[in-house]
Amino acid sequence: MKELPGSWLQKACRLLVVFCALHLSAVLFYYLAGHARGRPEPPPRGRPPSRPGASAPPRPETPPAPRTANLSHCPDPSPLLVGPLRVEFSHPVSLKKVEEENPDLREGGRYTPKDCIALQKVAIIIPFRNRDEHLRYWLYYLHPILQRQQLDYGIYVINQGGEETFNRAKLLNIGFIEALKEYDYDCFVFSDVDLVPMDDRNTYKCYDQPRHLSVSMDKFGFSLPYNQYFGGVSALSKEQFEKINGFPNNYWGWGGEDDDIYNRLVFKGMGVSRPDATIGKCRMIHHSRDNKNEPNPQRFTKIAHTKETMNSDGLNTLSYKAVKIERFYLYTKITVDVGSPKS
Ligand code: BGC
Repeated sequence: MKELPGSWLQKACRLLVVFCALHLSAVLFYYLAGHARGRPEPPPRGRPPSRPGASAPPRPETPPAPRTANLSHCPDPSPLLVGPLRVEFSHPVSLKKVEEENPDLREGGRYTPKDCIALQKVAIIIPFRNRDEHLRYWLYYLHPILQRQQLDYGIYVINQGGEETFNRAKLLNIGFIEALKEYDYDCFVFSDVDLVPMDDRNTYKCYDQPRHLSVSMDKFGFSLPYNQYFGGVSALSKEQFEKINGFPNNYWGWGGEDDDIYNRLVFKGMGVSRPDATIGKCRMIHHSRDNKNEPNPQRFTKIAHTKETMNSDGLNTLSYKAVKIERFYLYTKITVDVGSPKS
């Protein structure tokens, strides 16, 4: 019997449907297989296996430079202060121990608070010669205090090289100039190396008037030896220091230069600001008189002439040679040639 054209058409359509289904399945299969092959591997988890030979211990990361964006100013007074401190010089301290106890410093004895913007940028200037043991005590006590005071500070030890008679005030002038070469300090604290405050509320910063900080020394029975006394530790802003033409360069040997500085302040119409006798307590490390720092016999005559000499002896006539600059972790040491009384 002859097949009808309609049923032939039906068969052809079925065949086409089967063929399309097969084709679709094949395409789908190859698509999925190919996609799975091309997908990137997930990142490995955990630490990569160590390479053979890579045995060096991990280096501690360099501490990041302190951020200042979005920080507000540090509160005044600092909330970190603890008040009276026990200060004694019976057990020797090592620099290594001081370094370990002050992990947040930067090279050169620099510190900047992390959580707030310090109210002042303070350079601490220490006139120095052959007093390493005293310096260790000073660093041991002062670094933690200055950090609690939330100051942005740097420590500059100005070491008088050579054998000439000691010249404290000239070293302080040099410290002022050298510190400003490093950073835009706005306050300068001038401290003897053998004086340590006994209360951290005695903030090492500058005030409206030049500040005398060591007002209550054990050496003087915890009181001022005389009203005009300005020795030991003092703080002057950059403006105050420049206003008096810095300190005298011509006091060789012990005594008188601090009285000359006091006179300069008074002659320029300034007064002295001081903490009270409790907050201003401090201890001095006992020592015998240094070689080449005998009492200066000319000091009385010189003090009597501050008014005439101050404009021609000071920052504007300072000359010296920086011999060596060493940046240690706890302080910057600048060795200088200060010349001689005749030069
Ligand atoms: C000296 C000062 C010294 C003071 C206290 C005075 O006679 O001139 O330089 O700081 O005594 O010792």
